[in-house]
Amino acid sequence: MAYVVTDECIGCKYTDCVDVCPVSCFHEGPEMLYINPEECIDCNACVAECPPEAIWADVDLPEDKLQWIEINGEMSAKYPVLHESRGPHGQPSSQPS
Ligand code: SF4
Ligand code: SF4
Repeated sequence: MAYVVTDECIGCKYTDCVDVCPVSCFHEGPEMLYINPEECIDCNACVAECPPEAIWADVDLPEDKLQWIEINGEMSAKYPVLHESRGPHGQPSSQPS
């Protein structure tokens, strides 16, 4: 089992999820974050820190989001670990989005 980031994460980059992960298993791609399934220890800490509710336990994923298991595995291998949160949307909140 592992936790999985899904499409609700696209464009969020709020990244509070990263600060609570005890094993630094979030990786940052151009559009969203991904969880490394080899590193995730299923602690559940990140779920409550994710405002758009993008993070799921793989066993609880609805059928239309099952593809995100494979995507997280592939993309977390491709992109670097994000060790600390970046703040709202990765930029000062006064800037237009
Ligand atoms: S808080 Fe949720 S939606 Fe935002 S970056 Fe983290 S996983 Fe993605
Ligand atoms: S469930 Fe725990 S170990 Fe897995 S990504 Fe979330 S905070 Fe990290």
